[in-house]
Amino acid sequence: MKRQINIITLLVILSLVFLWQNIEPNKNFQACFLDVGQGDGALFRTTSGQNILVDGGADNHLLPALAQCLPWWERSIDYIFISHYHDDHYAGLVDLLDKYQVKNIITPTDKPDNALYSAWLYALDRHGLLEQTAITGQKYDFGNGVVLEILKAQDVDSKDANDDSLVLKISDQEIDYLLMGDLPSEQEEVLLKQNINLNSEILKVGHHGSKHSSSEDFLKAVQPELCVIEVGTDNSYGHPHQEALDRLQKNNCLIKETKDLGTIIVFSDGQKWWLE
Ligand SMILES: [Zn+2]
Repeated sequence: MKRQINIITLLVILSLVFLWQNIEPNKNFQACFLDVGQGDGALFRTTSGQNILVDGGADNHLLPALAQCLPWWERSIDYIFISHYHDDHYAGLVDLLDKYQVKNIITPTDKPDNALYSAWLYALDRHGLLEQTAITGQKYDFGNGVVLEILKAQDVDSKDANDDSLVLKISDQEIDYLLMGDLPSEQEEVLLKQNINLNSEILKVGHHGSKHSSSEDFLKAVQPELCVIEVGTDNSYGHPHQEALDRLQKNNCLIKETKDLGTIIVFSDGQKWWLE
């Protein structure tokens, strides 16, 4: 009898711990720049307990990388943003839909016509999901001072999907995370001309550190303190290019690459940021 009571007590304690972990919101804002090989994928966990995924890499790197940043019981992604429709940014998302309950998917206007996009649409259909089109200037308020703004969404009527990359700024009060997709410098120039406030502490460097992104003028406007490059080892593009690295260094940005470090985790408390 006594033994039974002990087991019941233990079960009650375990259940309470489980419940507490479930309802306890994240103390700090967390950004995980996921090691998805040659591709982009970043998970943001808000202090109000919401999960925002920006891009999903090219393949099955995504799920194990996500598991590093999400507790095992977490099965829900509140928002997915696809920066643009290149394989290395969204092919990994197809399998994700089987494992996680996804609530919203925000995407560029122009749709590709290829086998991967058909597979993606098929997967969306199976899960009863629809894409929503990103709108420039739209803001998403996640509470506790966390706001995501779409700085650029418009289709520039270009053959290169990189030009269409969504540019997102996620602000945790005073700390800004700027996500450039694979946007080339000509489009950075367009943003600069529009006088958009690009100033951000953390920059997800455009196009895996390509020399065709991260221009001098752009970096002067952003003034990043931390530059994260999502890039795979020995990739065939030679990313990151030395010219881009030189420009980042010249701007006194601390450079961190997923090919060297694996998943890079940044925390912020609204006033300051730090690396895990
Ligand atoms: Zn890319």
